[in-house]
Parts: sequence; C-alpha cells; structure tokens
Amino acid sequence: MFENQVEMFVSKFYFCTMQDTFKHKGMRKQLINELKEDERITNMAIFEAFDKIPRHFFLDKAFVEQAYSNMAFQIGAGQTISHPLTVAFQTQLLEVQKGDKILEIGTGSGFQTCILCQLGARVFSIERQKELHLKAKKIIHDLNFVPRLSFGDGYKGLPTFAPFDKIIVTCGAPEIPPALFEQLKVGGIMVIPVGEGVHQVMKRVVKTSETTFDSDDFGAFKFVPMLEQVVK
Ligand code: SAH
Repeated sequence: MFENQVEMFVSKFYFCTMQDTFKHKGMRKQLINELKEDERITNMAIFEAFDKIPRHFFLDKAFVEQAYSNMAFQIGAGQTISHPLTVAFQTQLLEVQKGDKILEIGTGSGFQTCILCQLGARVFSIERQKELHLKAKKIIHDLNFVPRLSFGDGYKGLPTFAPFDKIIVTCGAPEIPPALFEQLKVGGIMVIPVGEGVHQVMKRVVKTSETTFDSDDFGAFKFVPMLEQVVK
C-alpha cells in the first residue's frame, strides 16, 4: 500500500492529526442546509447522519476545505467519493430502517458506509480496489463503526451473508447483476445506477418474488463504472 516508510509515516501522521473542529461542524451544517433544499430528501434521519459523520476525514487533506461542498472528489486509485446529494438521495431511496441488513457495492471512501451505519443498519460493504478497501477500513474503524468490509468483486455479492433487506450499488452497472438480485430478500429494495455511457439512470428495484421485480427510474447520475476483477 505504501511506496516507502516516509509515505507510511506521513499517512499515519495525517490520520492522527485529523480533527473535527467547530469550523468543520459549521461547514457541515451549511452543507445540510443545501441538501435540505432538495425536496426529494424527506427522511430527516439522513440529515442527522450527515451531521454526525466528519466528511473531511474521507478526503485528502488538500481537499478539507471543499469537503463540505456538494461535489465529488478523487479518493485515490482513480475513484471518487460520491456527491453528498447523491449519497443522500440513494440513502433516501433505500428507505433504511434500524437493523436492516444492507449490502453496499463499492465501499470507496467509506463515507456512504458510515451514513448507513449511523442510521442503524447492519452494513456489509465490498470494494474491488485493495488500496481503497484498506484506507476505508482504517477511517471507518477510527470512527468506531463496525460494518463488515470485504475486498472482492461486488458482481458476486456476499452469498455467505445473504439474503439482504437492501442492496445499494455505488458504481455504474451495465445491468442488474443476477447474483445481487438473488441475494435480495423478497420485498427488499435495491438502489442501483444502471447504464454504460457517461450517465446512469438511478433505479429502485423492489423484489416482488424470487423471479420478479418492480422498478422505478429516478433520473440521470454520473458514477464510476462497476468493473469485474479485483485490483490487488
Ligand atoms: N460509496 C462510495 C462511492 C465510491 S465510488 C463512497 O461513499 O465513497 C465507487 C466505488 O466502487 C469505487 O471505489 C470502485 O473501486 C468500486 N467498484 C467498482 N466496481 C466494483 C465491483 N465490481 N465490486 C466492488 N467495488 C467496485
């Protein structure tokens, strides 16, 4: 993960010095006020969760000031942390209930994972890039959350822990992966951006029987692609 000892030291120092100051808390309130302007986000618990999670912990120090602007950012390995509004909107569509068993595909920075944990879900999250998996693990555990984090290919889901009440995919999938549909409970919800072009359509899929589902579309979003095979 680290090129050399110096890089490792800098990284350790960086995490030790991360603080959640009044300034950060103020910026977070401002971001929440902006998110509240979007009438699609009606679940107040989502705003409370945003208030609790220091988003700047998930970004490189150079971006701390911008961590609370409604933007996507590089998190390493060519990947991005989703826009706050996208995180809030996907969470809204997921209709998270306390105790829900949720599978997330694409741990990335770990920010969405923490939002789900904060809402009281039992979270299982998969990331295909080892570097990001390890980085997210450290931050999430520093924040005292205990989701089950796996390094692997999200197309396969986590059959050992299935079925799930909810599944959230945070990368653009060419179609609904059959293994994920299989691992969703009947009556469960999957929120997944589908499409191979620049934009994906946000879909909410409700599993109506082992072989059938209802699906609704919620507009265009831009995600990094869901790719097969892990990167060690
Ligand atoms: N939820 C993340 C979003 C990160 S971007 C956050 O809050 O930061 C999407 C992530 O999906 C990337 O980290 C990418 O590496 C990962 N990804 C892409 N294809 C995947 C797959 N097949 N299995 C698991 N993760 C995948």
